Amino acid sequence: MAKVIDSKIPAGPVPEKWKEYKAHQRLVNPKNKLKLDVIVVGTGLAGASAAASLGEMGFNVINLCIQDSPRRAHSIAAQGGINAAKCYQNDGDSVYRLFYDTVKGGDYRAREANVYRLAEVSNNIIDQCVAQGVPFAREYGGMLANRSFGGAQVSRTFYAKGQTGQQLLLGAYSSQSCQVKAGKVKLYTRYEMEDVVIVDGRARGIIAKNLVTGELERFSANAVVIATGGYGNTYFLSTNAMGCNCTAAVQCYRKGAYFANPSYVQIHPTCIPVHGDKQSKLTLMSESLRNDGRIWVPKNIEDAKALQAGTKQGWEIPEEDRDYYLERRYPAFGNLVPRDVASRAAKERCDKGFGVNNTGLAVFLDFSESINRLGIDVIMQRYGNLFEMYEEITDVFPGDVANEINGVKYYKPMMIYPAIHYTMGGIWVDYELQTSIPGLFAIGECNFSDHGANRLGASALMQGLADGYFVLPYTIQNYLADQAIWAKVGTDRPEFDEAEKAVNAEIDRLMNIKGKRSVDSIHKELGHIMWEYVGMGRTAEGLKIGLKKMHELEKEFDTNLFVPGTKEGLNIELDKAIHLRDFFTMGQLVAFDALSRNESCGGHFREEYQTEEGEAKRDDENYFYVGCWEYKGKGNEPELIKEPLEYEAIKVQTRNYKN
Ligand SMILES: Cc1cc2nc3c(=O)[nH]c(=O)nc-3n(C[C@H](O)[C@H](O)[C@H](O)COP(=O)(O)OP(=O)(O)OC[C@H]3O[C@@H](n4cnc5c(N)ncnc54)[C@H](O)[C@@H]3O)c2cc1C
Repeated sequence: MAKVIDSKIPAGPVPEKWKEYKAHQRLVNPKNKLKLDVIVVGTGLAGASAAASLGEMGFNVINLCIQDSPRRAHSIAAQGGINAAKCYQNDGDSVYRLFYDTVKGGDYRAREANVYRLAEVSNNIIDQCVAQGVPFAREYGGMLANRSFGGAQVSRTFYAKGQTGQQLLLGAYSSQSCQVKAGKVKLYTRYEMEDVVIVDGRARGIIAKNLVTGELERFSANAVVIATGGYGNTYFLSTNAMGCNCTAAVQCYRKGAYFANPSYVQIHPTCIPVHGDKQSKLTLMSESLRNDGRIWVPKNIEDAKALQAGTKQGWEIPEEDRDYYLERRYPAFGNLVPRDVASRAAKERCDKGFGVNNTGLAVFLDFSESINRLGIDVIMQRYGNLFEMYEEITDVFPGDVANEINGVKYYKPMMIYPAIHYTMGGIWVDYELQTSIPGLFAIGECNFSDHGANRLGASALMQGLADGYFVLPYTIQNYLADQAIWAKVGTDRPEFDEAEKAVNAEIDRLMNIKGKRSVDSIHKELGHIMWEYVGMGRTAEGLKIGLKKMHELEKEFDTNLFVPGTKEGLNIELDKAIHLRDFFTMGQLVAFDALSRNESCGGHFREEYQTEEGEAKRDDENYFYVGCWEYKGKGNEPELIKEPLEYEAIKVQTRNYKN
């Protein structure tokens, strides 16, 4: 019999569901809260906000992260902003409009009820953060300022210069620290979760490695929440922080948690292009730059060739010879089309030979028009730190005048190209953010819940903080209300013994391979396979080749890996080896999902399924579902389980950003 997924979506019309849920949900008796322990793995925006909220509510929280401080979680990298439907500008925004834009942006592959809830709580997030003292940008009159992000025709993105993630994380960290001081949150930094412990079918604890001493430790609790971020680093080169990994999520998947929509990977259009084979990291240039920057390539192939040869510079090409291809193809949204659309359009131009750097894999992002219109001071106020970051990496300052043609000043443009950035897929969760393992919850980027096949800019922070501050603290109580009568399980139970033994055996296995190749050299090769065969343009044939190559490379990893040092004490190479083992599982999962989805939608582009204009062609008749995968052992194809999507408030249609 086919497996049934209970997504626990409340009955009733979409706009009422969350209010309905909250009105009837079970809350834990305050006295019982003191007896209940919750493990929160991760201190990014999702984890820190959840730990702070749960502690504030009276639960005992054990909060772990791999960095030496919660403030160093990957979330600090977020630049551009966070969405909310405040409509301070009176520009026609509303909860419904944010909901609609997000569902449409996700190419109609998100769960409708979840997205409506997200749009509803978006406004509370801004209030919460302002109350914490987050220094959002303000207008001259004092009002919180907004800018636009892709896929929206209103200005709903709140920001703190180009450092929004950092400022939001400092806010969450303050609340979390307050609970640490109050004794409600116990913080474990430099700890990595290696396994989840299941007792009688429920998540009851974790095995974590003390990254400094190398020792394994056991933690038991009434529920486990993972907030461990995305799996973008499977591709080796990405905009993610170097420490981002999917070990916790993959281990939960191995233990029975379904993994949903892994093929939905976001490729961000505005990253600094790859500039050599020694690179281990890519840098994002925030989407906010597309508010004022215009994307273009030359109209004439001769100009493109001259740019590639280095005999011409972008600023020598006059206005009439520039092709602002996004404005040409999508007049209604112009440079602010969603990321998947902008990335594919850049690839299309470069594939046709119009790339503007020596590799032919770059397009221009040009501020000449906006600097001429607004002045350099205004542009620097908006994007100063991004301009400086670009200069630090490329030695080109985008605010420098380079040429004057017919009385028009031309400034040095940025060069950008798409790169792996975010993962919409993740651990499957129901409406309560509970995974398919009772007692195990997943929040933030590591779950799949809200973005469908493509995430709109500035929506990840919104989702992470919605989950952490406003959704999980309610929904987890529905589960915990039953748990108060059970005693917490001891860490001396056989399930803990077994889990710890298995983690230890894996560590020994990796240490004892004693081959010749470093972790990074194999990871880099995996990244090349992923980008080539499971990247921006996928085909059935290419995906099969990719799977075969990954399988072969995994064998190489298992037989020829070299991890220096010992397992005792700090061993960063060992930690990376554990991560790489899990990137292999993840990479294959992405490819399986991509192969099974014979359609194009959002970040998943199968070249066989495109319109004559090169747009993604969905197949709603056959693929209108969440693809959930169940682990079936190393080397075996996982089993696909479908959660059908049901839309009642939004008409499912072909995405249109042209008019
Ligand atoms: C360059 C860049 C810019 C971005 N800009 C924006 C933006 O402007 N707006 C927006 O909305 N989104 C943006 N994003 C996306 C957004 O930053 C992330 O999606 C979001 O911050 C993820 O938050 P998180 O809390 O889910 O995970 P993370 O911030 O990745 O935190 C993960 C946490 O889990 C911990 N962890 C991981 N594995 C383990 C383990 N095994 N054991 C213990 N702990 C573990 C880590 O230590 C960390 O504390 C950007 C992303 C990048 C890369």
